[in-house]
Formats: sequence, C-alpha cells, structure tokens
Amino acid sequence: MDIFLLKSLNKKAVLLKNFKKLLSKLRNTFVRRLLADGPITLSQIQTESQLFQLSVRQLREILTTNRVDYRGLIEKSELFEKVVRLWNEIRSAKGADNLPDEELCKICMNAPVNCVILECGHMVSCVECGRQLAECPICRQFVVRVVRTFKA
Ligand SMILES: [Zn+2]
Ligand SMILES: [Zn+2]
Repeated sequence: MDIFLLKSLNKKAVLLKNFKKLLSKLRNTFVRRLLADGPITLSQIQTESQLFQLSVRQLREILTTNRVDYRGLIEKSELFEKVVRLWNEIRSAKGADNLPDEELCKICMNAPVNCVILECGHMVSCVECGRQLAECPICRQFVVRVVRTFKA
C-alpha cells in the first residue's frame, strides 16, 4: 500500500480515537454532575432524555438562573414541563441578526427581549441584561424581580 495513504489513514484513526475519548469524557462529566446533583446549565443538555434525568433541585436551579417563575409549582412533572419549554425556547431562539430592532434587547442589542421587569412591567431587555439591572431603564423604577417571558 502507498506509504502516504497509510500515514493519512493512521492519522485519521488517531483523530477518531481522540475524538471518542473526548466524547466519553464529556459524557462522564455530565453523568458525574448528575450523580453529584451539582449545578447543571441548559447548554450542557443535548437531548430531552437528559432533561428527564435531572433532579427536582436541578430543575429548580435551572428555572431560577433563567428567571423562570415557578412559584406554585410543586410536582416534579410541572417543573419538568417548564424546563422543557425553556430548553425548546432557547434552542429555537432566532439569531439576533434575523430580529427586527423592536424585538432586540435595548441594552446589548444582541439577543431577543425575553423578560419582563417587575413591578413596572416594562419589557426592554434579555434575561442576561435584565438580571443586572437595579432600576428600569425606561421608568427608573426599582427592579424587584425579572421574569422570563415565553411566546405562545
Ligand atoms: Zn441583552
Ligand atoms: Zn419600567
């Protein structure tokens, strides 16, 4: 066989092996986190079945960090439903380039407006910018809470 071909095949095999190693490492981290009931972020989750493995505490954590209101929800299935919705919303979010200006966060101009400021009720920013606000940029009212909004 051609020596160059052989070399390149060999290289491919090594690459594939490294890739597989990396993949199993990633999977192990995820599993380890799950077992330890440690902090999980939605970006670490690739499939809905992985969501299904989360504990109630992890579901609550995800909802809290994403400013999703879950007061009054007690059943795990209710929390799970909210997390799935959030996960789908985040995954299907259009890139900022495709959004009309009025739907863009007025602070970073880089994400859709997806939260409401309480108590004033103004919708001006994305969750990431909203959680850093001390007062509403429109009416200057004190920000009590920022709650994520969902499109129907
Ligand atoms: Zn923003
Ligand atoms: Zn306001």
